[in-house]
Parts: sequence; C-alpha cells; structure tokens
Amino acid sequence: KNLSSSQIRAMYLDFFKQHGHTIEPSASLVPKDDPSLLWINSGVATMKKYFDGSVVPKNHRLTSSQKSIRTNDIENVGKTARHHTLFEMLGNFSVGDYFKKEAINWAFELLTSPDWFGWDKDKLYMTVYPKDTDAKKYWEAAGVAPDHLIDMDDNFWDIGQGPSGPDTEVFYDRGPEHDDLKPDDPENYPGGENERYLEVWNIVFSQFNHKPDDTYEPLPRKNIDTGMGLERVTSIFQNAPTNFETDLFLPIIHKTEEFSNNKKYGSDDQDDVDFKIIADHARAITFAIGDGALPSNVGRGYVIRRLIRRAIVSGHRLGIEKDFLYKLVPIVGEIMKSYYPEVLEQKDYLAKVIHSEEKRFNETLSDGLDLLNNLLDGLKESDNKIVSGKDAFKLYDTYGFPLEMTREYLNDEGYSVDEDGFKSEMQKQKDRARNARGDKKSMGVQRDLLLEIKTSSKYVGYNQLSVANAKLL
Ligand code: ATP
Ligand code: MG
Ligand code: MG
Ligand code: MG
Repeated sequence: KNLSSSQIRAMYLDFFKQHGHTIEPSASLVPKDDPSLLWINSGVATMKKYFDGSVVPKNHRLTSSQKSIRTNDIENVGKTARHHTLFEMLGNFSVGDYFKKEAINWAFELLTSPDWFGWDKDKLYMTVYPKDTDAKKYWEAAGVAPDHLIDMDDNFWDIGQGPSGPDTEVFYDRGPEHDDLKPDDPENYPGGENERYLEVWNIVFSQFNHKPDDTYEPLPRKNIDTGMGLERVTSIFQNAPTNFETDLFLPIIHKTEEFSNNKKYGSDDQDDVDFKIIADHARAITFAIGDGALPSNVGRGYVIRRLIRRAIVSGHRLGIEKDFLYKLVPIVGEIMKSYYPEVLEQKDYLAKVIHSEEKRFNETLSDGLDLLNNLLDGLKESDNKIVSGKDAFKLYDTYGFPLEMTREYLNDEGYSVDEDGFKSEMQKQKDRARNARGDKKSMGVQRDLLLEIKTSSKYVGYNQLSVANAKLL
C-alpha cells in the first residue's frame, strides 16, 4: 500500500473511532497548567488531566494525532533516519476502560489487517518487559511468533510524574539493506542501535501514578496510552530510506534546493544533513510560533531561537546567501493543511516573526562564524581542545550563537567549550544588568505612573492630561 501521510493519520484515527474512541484535536504545543513541561512532547502529555482524575472525560476511550516537540532529539535530527524536533504522535488512550488484551489485539489488527495497514507480520518485532507475561501471551495469541517477542529490561515507561508502567514496543524490520551494524554487533537487534529495525509504536500499560515525591502509587483503574510516530509510519508506507523522503518533508527540501547555490538533495551526505535540519526545524518553528511562542532568550523562546539559528547555519553551509527560512512557512502550511488549516491561515504572521529573527541573526552570522573558525584554527595549532568560557560567551552575546550551537559545532570537530567558564560569564552579565536596573528604579516608578495616567486618559480632558504629564516629566 502506498498511502499519503494524511491518509495514514486519518486511517489511524478512523480505526480507533470504529472501536469506540472519541477523536481529540491536536492540542497546543504550549502546555496548559503544567509547569513541569516546556513543550507537549507526546499524546499522553495532553491527557494527564484525565489520567490523574482531575477531569473526567465524557468518553473513556480517546484517540489523537498530537503535535509534539522533543528538544532532547535536536542533535539527532538529520543524523538518524527517524528523529525530529516536531513530530506527530498518533495515539489511543483508555482512561480506566480497556486494558492490555484489547490494546494488543487492536494494535495487531491495525498493523496487519489488509483492511488497515496490511503489514507483513514477519516484519514486526515486539519488545516486552520481561516480567510482563500477559503482554507476551496476548501478542502470541494474536499471531506473533515467539522469536519475534523480545525481552527488554528498560520497557518501563515513566515521564517523571504522572502515569507509568510496563510497555511493549513495535519495531518494523526495514530489511538488510538498512543494516548499519554488522550482524554480530551486540546492538544489532530490534530495540538496539541498528536503524534497520525502526521503532514505530510504544504501547504503555499505565498501572501506577508517579507522584511528585517520587513514590509510585497503584492506580485504582488501569490505563492505556500509546504513541506511534506518524513520520516513521509514513516512511514505511512510502518506502523511504529515512523519514525525510516522504510527503511530509520532501516539498520543504525541494524548496530549499531552489535557494541554495546548485546543491541537490541526495548527492552529498553532509549537505543532506543540512537539508534535513532545515526541513525539520522549519516545521517546528512554524508550529511553535503558531501556538503562541516567540523567539527570546529564555524557556520556549530560547528553543525557537536556537532552532531558527541552527537552521540558518545549515543554510549558510549550503551556500544560501539570502534570508530563506521564512519562505518555507507556506510550504509547511500546504503540507499540513488537511489537519492543521490554521498554519496557512496564519502564514503571513508566522513568516514575519521568522523573517525578523532571521534578519537579526544574519547581521552577525558571518562575523560569528569567522570568530568561531579562528578559534578552531587556534586550537588546532595548540594542544588545547577547549574554547574558553569568555570566547563562547562572546559568541553568544555579541554574535547570537546559542551555547548549544557552539558546543555542537566544536564537538563535530573534536573540541569542546569550558561550560563553567561560560556560566560564570553569564552570571557576571546578569549581575551587571541587575546593578544597572537598581539605578533606574525611580525611573521605573515614573513610567508606571505615566502608564496609569494614559490608561485613564479617556476620562480626563486633554488639558488635565498634559498638566499631569508636565508634572511628571
Ligand atoms: P527512539 O528510541 O526512536 O528515540 P522513543 O523510544 O524515545 O523513540 P517514545 O517515547 O516511545 O519514543 O515515543 C513513542 C513513539 O513516538 C516512538 O515509537 C516513535 O514512533 C515516535 N517518536 C519518538 N520520538 C520521536 C522523534 N524525536 N521524532 C519522531 N518520532 C518520534
Ligand atoms: Mg527517543
Ligand atoms: Mg525507543
Ligand atoms: Mg519508545
């Protein structure tokens, strides 16, 4: 079967709808009332309120395709076949309703039935928590051969707080042509570091509540939560060597080729990594800004800034000389419009935000890269492998290079940053800023007063207002 990503998403949701689930819309990437999370990073993250009992859902069976951001995967992007910063997680959820048996039977049906995915069951491997004999029993009963069931000690799902329990994961064998490890490598098995076996689905049997004080409390009613990466499933249907050669990314990559100086995707490995980084980050920043986050120096805003700047550096390596990132917004919007029409609706605003960030960074980019390369040359001539905190801070403060980006750039060449030195430079700057603010305190009071007067200006006459202003200024 060759299905489009939109058809796959629809098929998944439809399957679970037919099994009594209500389709929940993809929630904002910015978590609501959840200070423990910077970004929504999975389907279940939006459903905590149901699982912890604070909200009772109308239907105890839910399904969704949830946009998710994982910052821990930033540096995997383009290097592995399967990681993104923004991806969609298809999921089905049971809030104290069905449990292990149904979850496993339906999973097997969706994956292998010719009416649904229709995948060859011999290509599937399932990892299970060794003590979870029930999970093994149900997979076998459904039709999985015993030698396709693999014990995995770390199949215990825990996001730090909230629901947790054993899980079972589904791997797809993409075939020996995708082997990147030797047959006798200890990591060469489903669940190991070999990209031949692609993890597509994680099915979690939540039995405990992980409490803030780090104790585990059995849940009065057991839950199911699952996560299946849409991009990975799409790569299987579209027979793509990585997630990037699918309908979700190729149009962005092809647009990027137009901006570059005659670079073609697929002709050079390092160039391909840069094309992939750009395609990935363009999607992530478009959606993140669409959900109300803005580039800044802290928290979510810093993640956006880092992604934008990283994509620009990749563009620079591809020989792109003009601002380009903002021009990818409409392409992202086109690709995603069937499920996320709001992206195209907001495209001008999104492009404007990205463009202004792009202009800002481009003013200092080449000078910053010159400094970085000079530092690298200096290191190569000496025995020193570490860039000083002062230099890294200068790159950050004067040239807008996020620390992580500098670190990554250096790591690729076998060098590193004095991180403590960087932190102490950062602290010094904060102290300087605080002192400066202290001097201006009285001005702050004045400004507040002025604001108050302005807001009440509707009610006072022009003369009175200017008298009040005259007194203040
Ligand atoms: P991996 O081992 O490949 O990093 P994971 O075990 O961290 O994946 P889970 O936390 O189990 O992933 O998430 C459930 C599913 O979401 C995965 O099976 C995968 O299909 C998808 N997924 C997870 N992280 C990413 C990512 N960074 N990009 C794309 N898909 C992802
Ligand atoms: Mg991971
Ligand atoms: Mg995994
Ligand atoms: Mg997993």
